[in-house]
Amino acid sequence: MVYLDNNATTRIAPEVFEEMAPFLTNWYGNPSNVYAFGLQVRQKIEEARQRTAELIGAEPEEIIFTGCGTESNNTALMSALKTFPGKKHIITTTVEHPSVYNFCARLAAEGYRTTAIPVDQEGALDMDRLSAAVAEDTAVVSIMYANNESGVIFPLAEISRIIKGVKGVLFHTDAVQAAGKIPIDVKTLPVDMLSLSGHKLHAPKGVGALYVRKGTPFHPLLIGGHQEGGRRAGTENAASIIGLGKASEMARTGMAKEALFIAQLRDALEAGLAASCPGARINGAGSARLSNTSHISFPFIDGEAVLTMLDRESIFVSTGSACNATTDEPSRVLKAMRVPDSHIRGSMRFSLSRYTTTAHIDRLIETLPPIVRRLQELSPFRTWQEK
Ligand code: PLP
Repeated sequence: MVYLDNNATTRIAPEVFEEMAPFLTNWYGNPSNVYAFGLQVRQKIEEARQRTAELIGAEPEEIIFTGCGTESNNTALMSALKTFPGKKHIITTTVEHPSVYNFCARLAAEGYRTTAIPVDQEGALDMDRLSAAVAEDTAVVSIMYANNESGVIFPLAEISRIIKGVKGVLFHTDAVQAAGKIPIDVKTLPVDMLSLSGHKLHAPKGVGALYVRKGTPFHPLLIGGHQEGGRRAGTENAASIIGLGKASEMARTGMAKEALFIAQLRDALEAGLAASCPGARINGAGSARLSNTSHISFPFIDGEAVLTMLDRESIFVSTGSACNATTDEPSRVLKAMRVPDSHIRGSMRFSLSRYTTTAHIDRLIETLPPIVRRLQELSPFRTWQEK
């Protein structure tokens, strides 16, 4: 099988599973209790906190474990709004993940003022619009570090310079796609809160983390027990937290070498497909991008049809974003990037990981172009082509 949908979710690294396994079987004690059977679990959770913190240059006490990236994002926004009850304005972008974008839409329905900053054709953020949007009543700016569909990386330092011109604005970033793929150091990255998610970096699904900079006021979303220092109630998902810790350590130590290899594979993929699929458009290629992500739009075909035909060959990719694959609407992100009508429905995302091999890429380059050609020949819009 050729798995190229790693921005949707990743395989659990065997080393991660190995560290988790004892805590799914023998070591099931309550980490909040003082008996030895719980203390062992507590120690491993704290080791995981240290390892997760190290991935982003944070202090362990600045890490709150959550149930997923979505929860981290929701928590950050709610906490910021509770910090400034008098402020009713939120700034985000038109290309955020639904866990921020749809949450903002709900807040708008509840009476908050929300501004979504647009991007250009290369997926780059309109900094002038951002600058004009920040106001005295802005409570929080939530702008992702890297986009899940295009892989485009936003310039967080520059964004921070713009928004911190207004006093008392909190800056949150959704770093779910960035964490483990590009170096992050919150000692120099001027954000107040940062979200990450385990299953994007070879840890299990259903665990995430929220970084909250020391001194930033924080209001929990989940209220109940005193877990996570009273910042996130609910008995800890110990095994998954331990998995996230191990995955973070592996990502930190392996990142430089892996990113180089993955970038070479991604470049080979793009060169191979561009050479054999006339009219293919590589989205976001003019911007800084994650080295594992390639987003390509093929003219006059339907990405869903390509996906199904690749599926028969055991090649797994995504049309746009896994998060909207069930709706018939073209991707919001690609509309925001003004991908032409001729191409938007033929958009495919290929996302690689450390487990991707040259053989996988060769098989894609061999298999996909004939599928694209066949579908284009059947297309009623074929007049654009040389017949
Ligand atoms: N943010 C981004 C950029 C994502 O890509 C995703 C997942 O697709 C999420 C947040 C949500 O993460 P989780 O699936 O852990 O809730």
